[in-house]
Amino acid sequence: MVAILTNRPEFYADLSEEIRLFIDERKIPLTDTLPEEGYAVRHVFREDLSYSDTATLYLDGVQVSEYSFPYEKTEIQDPVARTRLFKHGAKVAVFRVLRDYFGSEKAWGSLTGVRPTKFFRDLCRRYDRKEALRQFREVYEVNEEKLSLVTGIVDVQEPFIRSVGKEDLDIYVGIPFCTSRCAYCSFLSSVTTRDGRLEEEYVKALLKEMELLRDLIKEKHIRSIYVGGGTPTAINETLLGMILERITSFSSGAELTVEAGRPDTITPEKLRLIKDAGAGRISVNPQTTCERTLEIIGRKHSISSFFEKYELARSFGFDAINTDLIAGLPGETEEDLMKSVTDCRDLGAENITVHTLAIKKGSRFGMQNAHHFVDEKTAERMVLHSRELLENSGYRPYYMYRQKYMAGNMENTGYALPGKECIYNIDIMEEEVSILAFGAGAASKRVDREGKKISRTIGLKDVRQYIDRIEEMAGNKLDLFSEGK
Ligand code: SF4
Repeated sequence: MVAILTNRPEFYADLSEEIRLFIDERKIPLTDTLPEEGYAVRHVFREDLSYSDTATLYLDGVQVSEYSFPYEKTEIQDPVARTRLFKHGAKVAVFRVLRDYFGSEKAWGSLTGVRPTKFFRDLCRRYDRKEALRQFREVYEVNEEKLSLVTGIVDVQEPFIRSVGKEDLDIYVGIPFCTSRCAYCSFLSSVTTRDGRLEEEYVKALLKEMELLRDLIKEKHIRSIYVGGGTPTAINETLLGMILERITSFSSGAELTVEAGRPDTITPEKLRLIKDAGAGRISVNPQTTCERTLEIIGRKHSISSFFEKYELARSFGFDAINTDLIAGLPGETEEDLMKSVTDCRDLGAENITVHTLAIKKGSRFGMQNAHHFVDEKTAERMVLHSRELLENSGYRPYYMYRQKYMAGNMENTGYALPGKECIYNIDIMEEEVSILAFGAGAASKRVDREGKKISRTIGLKDVRQYIDRIEEMAGNKLDLFSEGK
């Protein structure tokens, strides 16, 4: 049990994330009274001649450690920048009191709730690279291995970011269906229906929305298109073909990626449709190449079907095939993960994405209140050794992100052979390009690079409501993209 007391309750969520780096508790209550049992962190912000954040750690009602973080008063007036500064002070104080008490170093230091590569690039722009490196090392206490991951990715991304044009737009199309539900899945996906009626209504709504936004799309330069899910190949050939036909009418020449995902949904007809639509990139995802793990996580396909569908996709001549893997699956050892990484490498997959298992609230594991299946140090080794193996095989990490509730608070990293990077994956993480997103729960972003502002609208998550209110969904996107015109 651990609780938080703070005089800045607006930072409660951020402070909880710092605590979770050290104490594996999902529920961390915010309270006014010091609990008599378990841990409690009291955070106090003070404003005198300077600012200061003091974090005090208690165990069973008794103080066991304290850390104060003083800093100079600021002239900054911008409310967003002020909040960022104060939040930073609060997080650093809480991180350091816990780090001192538990004595454990954290690979990502106190960095939570930010995209590390985007944050590093922002620091380089605001100051310079030297100062960005200093802050990552000394202020946020990120270790050298993670720092080299971040700088390596930022360098690989640099030409892609430099090439962004003023009228560039990415398009995302979400198909929130899948044929069953994996134990770790928290994606917004419905299991496909027996008669396929819901999927058909959904695709018709999607096409209608695209038609309503056709004029907006025509004004833009389409940089990349990504069809994701759920599992886009979970719907039938006719419906998939309708979506791909509409997409190709918007743009030829843009990067096109289709996440086929589950091997058991892939058919030669679907691959033919995807290839004929001009997609160069496809995902065929095993998550692991250990048969017994597939059963535990409820993926309902075999390893042999992954190999078979991978080879089938290869025979269609795609430029880049991605395979997703997950570190930290139940019952898996480091050797199991290395076998999976080696298998994907030996297949010649141009992209290999190594995720770390995140136990999210909406997943079966989350609802069962499952704890992680590997400890922090094992997760760290798994991630490090898969990186070494892939880098030694000629792959480069080219995008990454972190999520809440990940094993060992690690990260997800996409690796690519040089020249095989997926532009969309870079754009979605780095937020330098606007994204027009179609589909239930899909987030459209308008990026104003000069004004350094990002505005968003998110499609209704419920598939039925999304279908029924499709004009409103389209209207929200039109409003978003006409803002300030
Ligand atoms: S295949 Fe993907 S979308 Fe489908 S249930 Fe598993 S994780 Fe979720």
